[in-house]
Amino acid sequence: MDVGVTSLYDLSYDELKALLASWGEPAYRASQLWNWLYKRLAPDFDAMTDLPAQLRQRLAAETRLYRLRLVAEQQSSDGETRKLLLALPDGQMIESVLMGYSRRRTACISTQAGCGMGCVFCATGQMGLLRNLSSGEIVEQVLYLERELRTSERERGLTNIVFMGMGEPLANYAATLAALRRLMDPTGFNFGARRITISTVGLVPAIERFSREGLQVGLAVSLHAATDALRNQIVPINRRYPLARLMAVCRDYVARTGRRLTFEWALIQGVNDGPEQAEALARLVTGLLCHVNVIPLNPTRGYPGSPSTRERVAAFRAILERAGVPCTVRVRRGIDIEAGCGQLRTEVEMQVSSPAPAAT
Ligand code: SF4
Repeated sequence: MDVGVTSLYDLSYDELKALLASWGEPAYRASQLWNWLYKRLAPDFDAMTDLPAQLRQRLAAETRLYRLRLVAEQQSSDGETRKLLLALPDGQMIESVLMGYSRRRTACISTQAGCGMGCVFCATGQMGLLRNLSSGEIVEQVLYLERELRTSERERGLTNIVFMGMGEPLANYAATLAALRRLMDPTGFNFGARRITISTVGLVPAIERFSREGLQVGLAVSLHAATDALRNQIVPINRRYPLARLMAVCRDYVARTGRRLTFEWALIQGVNDGPEQAEALARLVTGLLCHVNVIPLNPTRGYPGSPSTRERVAAFRAILERAGVPCTVRVRRGIDIEAGCGQLRTEVEMQVSSPAPAAT
């Protein structure tokens, strides 16, 4: 383990430049190295053939390239979803998911090991917060999946990135924003902001701050209940930031950014899938530029709730649509490998279908 060694993916371009300048390297070396890191996704230092051998040796001795190590991988039975269990340098584990369907190749990445938000139906919430990820650990998940795709899918890389894996992205604000900016940097990975979505369970001050960042990144708010009495039970952060405050900051977000918000709603049979909740939701969001995504609950071992039946999902959606609220029913993906929303939980009991190669 080499905790404390500089991880190149934790550095901004300016920090990388300063590091190389402190080694007496000319300024253009920083852009060469940046190019290897974010455009060519070099597998190791040896591949960086336009850097002098001496510099490559020093980089190998004093810094690290990839720090995430693949521990296990599972593929869903339909072949469309892959879940990776990745070890961090200090031994903590996270999960990243690659979803490939409808011509999209979406990376669902983690921002924390575990999560402190405690949403009752969520396997990650049931673990508690272990630690925040660094910006490099967030970025690396994306680059890992991109490299995999580029080698296996004739250079067709990721089309979308969602920060919806383990953790609450806005509770790890600085690292999440640094990772976002690095992934979008036009001189590097150059990923389009509009193809990125950040999800939050409703951290009001952080949403307010995020809305001032001037980013074209999508925001999805996990709502799950439209009355405080119910939301307090299933999304405990609601006790600190109740619905009135949350909806006020959502309205400000839309007014300030002009962007359409997404509300996420996991439909739990007999809990939040009745007509009263659908009507209350319609009242909450009326007049707001938004879209509601409902998805029948993905089961987790620590919560007894079950997914709503098809009839109840359809009835819930019909109420929203009658009220003029755009609503999509999301298809549950990767359920057989527990890679669906709210199911991520690092347990080394993941069945390893093939020997796990180490990430370089
Ligand atoms: S749903 Fe999101 S915010 Fe809530 S516990 Fe799970 S990971 Fe954390």
